Formats: sequence, structure tokens, C-alpha cells
Amino acid sequence: MTDKIKVDPSCMDDFDKESILPAEALQRIFNLIKAVSEKVNVPVREALGKVLAENITSSINVPSGRNSAMDGYAIRSKDLPEDGVKTFNMIGTCLAGKPFKQAVDKDQCVRIMTGAVMPEGTDTVIIQEHVEVNGNNIKIDNNTNAGANIREAGEDLSIGDLVLEQGMRLNPADIGLLASLGHAEVPVYKNITVAFFSTGDELRSIGEPLEDGAIYDSNRYTLFGMLANLGVEIIDMGVVKDNKAELESAFHEATNKADVLITSGGVSVGEADYIKETLENNGTIHFWKVAMKPGRPLTLGKMKDCYFFGLPGNPVSVMVTFYQFVQPAIKKLLGEKHVEPIMMKVPCISKLKKRPGRVEYQRGVLEKNTQGETIVRKTGKQGSGILRSMSDANCFIVLPLENAGVTEGDLVDVQPFYGVI
Ligand code: AMP
Ligand code: MG
Repeated sequence: MTDKIKVDPSCMDDFDKESILPAEALQRIFNLIKAVSEKVNVPVREALGKVLAENITSSINVPSGRNSAMDGYAIRSKDLPEDGVKTFNMIGTCLAGKPFKQAVDKDQCVRIMTGAVMPEGTDTVIIQEHVEVNGNNIKIDNNTNAGANIREAGEDLSIGDLVLEQGMRLNPADIGLLASLGHAEVPVYKNITVAFFSTGDELRSIGEPLEDGAIYDSNRYTLFGMLANLGVEIIDMGVVKDNKAELESAFHEATNKADVLITSGGVSVGEADYIKETLENNGTIHFWKVAMKPGRPLTLGKMKDCYFFGLPGNPVSVMVTFYQFVQPAIKKLLGEKHVEPIMMKVPCISKLKKRPGRVEYQRGVLEKNTQGETIVRKTGKQGSGILRSMSDANCFIVLPLENAGVTEGDLVDVQPFYGVI
């Protein structure tokens, strides 16, 4: 996250003196979040996407014994021809799962298949392309090095190796590794429940008629998608009107059954007061203006054991603030250790308008140009209500506070969605 202010921000046109930097907001969120400590054992497949609650060390060697990496013939390397071709006597065959039990002697060979355990005495496999077969007489050329085409015991994992670290989110390779160690169950942190609702008298849910001035609620769908990607349990509480009693009761309901509550909209002065009042009477609340665009206002609170994130209403602001703050917070809460998105520097082929004073998260497309180089361009219009700009994007172009615009060819910081979202 861009956090270093190189010049005094107070003289920047777009800087609000009451605002804090995104990195500061994230730090304050992390200071308040206490990670889940309860562990549950789940079957290995169910552990996909969950956060590992203990270090996993290997109790076995994988592979368990020295075996062939290729189909061919197993020999003793000391019998390899020095030059020219030499004939070996084939004394048997070994297949994966069907070892050849006899020891191999001078100038003898055994037909071997990939994954089969190397017969006693052998240490080299000659691939089939380098032999000429005539019954049991196998002519071998001198193009193979001693020790070639075998996999050593423990080459992938050795007994005692730290295989997977507590606090990592398990991906398909990880659950494969766990399976290769024979784990039927895996200790992961207990999942959390996240509730959300939208606020606004103008909002309608799908299926309801859309009268003049009304709009369909899209935030509950983007929030659903972003939360589903994190693997949390989701409670969609619908639309709540800009009304004190309804907001208060929705708050109480959510905090009774969820670990996290996310709301969107209702952060303008009168509306926010209801949330503020409810939280002040029942918990704690922090209102921050964050020096960012889109998504300046952000509310964080805690009521009973439930964390509360009050996001702005504009559809792009919801997604930007979710990815910058709520997602790292939820990951942290779930016990994940590495929660910050990666950043890379890429040349930007679009001209970008920006005034100094806020960190901007413009929506971009990372792609290859005709020379095969990775570049980024902006998606069309960048207004905070233009959800299309997120739908078309595959990354954020993150412009630091002091940046006063980008000209074509400038290097910019890019936060790819892949692996982040
Ligand atoms: P607010 O933060 O409530 O003032 O809302 C800011 C803007 O976002 C307004 O134009 C709202 O109509 C719009 N908006 C708020 N909530 C939603 C939602 N759930 N879906 C789509 N647009 C919304
Ligand atoms: Mg509103």
C-alpha cells in the first residue's frame, strides 16, 4: 500500500486535513482485529481455501524410496559402457507398485517403468530411446550419465521438513501435498460469519418494480461475490431504509449472529448519526476520512464480539474499500498471515488525470502489447458510480498521494486482482 508522503500533504489541493492515509487506516484496523484462535479438524478436501492452524511437518519421505523418473532399463552405473555400445542381459521387469525383488549383478538390467522402485544395486535408468532390444539382450549406448533418470527418496518432502506453515491459506497444491503425506484431516481455523445489508430509501431488490428515482441494489451482489471468494459464511440481510429504528434493529440482529457486519451507504451526515448513536451506546466506533479516491469515508466499529465496517454507498467505492481494508481485515481475522496485496511497477499507456492529495485506485487492465511487454491501461470512465470500470478491470492502478497525473509511458504501481481477489 502506498503510504510514504514525500512532501507535506497539507498544501495539496485535494487533501483534507482531517483525513488519514490508507496505510494508517489499515494499521488501525489491524490493531483492533483479534484473529480467530479456535481450531477445527476438517477432511483434507474441505481444507481448500481455509487457513491452516498448525505447522505441518513431514512424517514420511515423499517419494518413499528411490524410483525411476522414466520408462527404460535400470542398471548399475559402474557397468555403463565407456565408449561405444554394450550388451546387457535383461533379468526381469519392475512396474510402479510391483517391485523387482532380486539384486542386479554385473552387466544385467531390469526393464523399469516410471515410478517403479529401483531394484537393489541399480542407480541409473537408460531411457528406451538409447537402447536396442533383441529378446533379453539389451544394447545400451554411452549417452547416459551415472545416476540419470531417477528420483531420490525424499526428493519432494523429507522426514522432518516444514511442509506448510500455520497461517497460510490452503490452495490446490497444498491440499495435494497434504494428501501425499497421508493426512485425512487438517487443522484449520474456525470459519467466520459475515452479515451485510445495504442502506438507502432509493434501493430496490431484484424483482421489485423500479419507480422513478429508484435503483437496483448492486452492492449486495458485489459484496456477496467478494465474500464468497474469501470462503466465509454469508448472511444477506437485504436493504434497510434510512430510518433510525430499522437501522438499530438490523444492527442488533446482525451483531447477534455474525462475526463481522458490513454495510454500504448511509454515511452522509444525518444517516451516519443513527449508526454512530447505536454503536456508541452499545460498543465502540471510529469514523475516519481516508485520503483516498474513491471511498473517502470509512467507519469501523465493534459491538459485542462483532466487527462493523461501514462502507460508502457508491458501487466502486464499496469494492475499492472492501479490497483495501475489509478483505485484509477478514483475512487477518481468519488467522491468515500474509494479507497485503502484491504491487508491481508497469508502464501505463493511458494518460491519467489526478490531483495531489489522495491515494487513487484507478481501474486498469494489465495486458501484453504487440511486443509482448506487460503494460497497463485504464478502463473507461473512472467515476465512483461506474461499476463497469471494475467489471472491465483486472487490476487497480494505485497512484500515490503526491501524484499529479500520469503521462503515457510513465511507470505506475499496479495491484493485480489475480491472487488478491
Ligand atoms: P450514500 O453513501 O448512501 O450517500 O450513497 C452514495 C451513492 O451510492 C448514491 O448515489 C446511492 O444511490 C448509491 N448507492 C448506495 N447504495 C447502493 C447500492 N446498494 N447499490 C447501488 N448503488 C448504491
Ligand atoms: Mg444513502
